Amino acid sequence: MIIVKSSREIELMKEAGNVVALVFEECRKMLKSGVTTLEIDQKAEEVIRSHGCIPTFKGYGGFPGSICISVNDTLIHGIPSNKIVLKDGDIVSLDVGATYQGYCGDACRTYPVGQVTEKASRLMKVTEESFYEGCKQIHPGAHLGDISHAIQEYNESHGYSLPRDYTGHGIGQHLHEDPSIPNVGKAGTGPILQVGMCLAIEPMVAEGKPFTRVLNDEWTVKMKDGKLSSHYENTVVVTETGYEILTKLKEK
Ligand code: MG
Repeated sequence: MIIVKSSREIELMKEAGNVVALVFEECRKMLKSGVTTLEIDQKAEEVIRSHGCIPTFKGYGGFPGSICISVNDTLIHGIPSNKIVLKDGDIVSLDVGATYQGYCGDACRTYPVGQVTEKASRLMKVTEESFYEGCKQIHPGAHLGDISHAIQEYNESHGYSLPRDYTGHGIGQHLHEDPSIPNVGKAGTGPILQVGMCLAIEPMVAEGKPFTRVLNDEWTVKMKDGKLSSHYENTVVVTETGYEILTKLKEK
């Protein structure tokens, strides 16, 4: 069942989303050679809690970190660790969830560490652009499949592939609500979008083949072929005229 949110609920989700955006502002400054992903996680938790939020992912299904940090061929769900040390040329995704007064915000960015290859830059750029291509489809009366289709088309037209096992999702009082939002799909299919639906749209894009494997830690999802992957996400709300991103810094 898809739960449409009231304007009061959306305000609370904007508060959560503002804190998610603050985590990106603070943590991206730390992305340098020699830094461990555990150090980044500790900073993220500090920012989240100091703004009256709870790190949504901590303990979710037993996840041990405050955020997910996934480097290079790790697609998603990387567990922060003092054994994972960033180095120049890495690309690293920070997937951040914050809960404010019971309402969640969820977003992800993939950043370069030092100088990265042209190939890696292009992958990150196309992944982000594909999020916006998907969002262009959002308006009341559109189908969910219109978003999926646009994301798929854009990435495939650039020679990338889309792992099928992981999707975006509805979001609100729960991190994962209906509907699930695949990154591949047919236009004109799926649920019809309504004002007040809140969606976490998150292209997860592979440079090589779309096949993944989960490590023995039961979380870390890696590309089977060891090639690069990238991830970009925001929580958005469907509005009368289109959509609004909730996981952004609030205007002062
Ligand atoms: Mg998500």
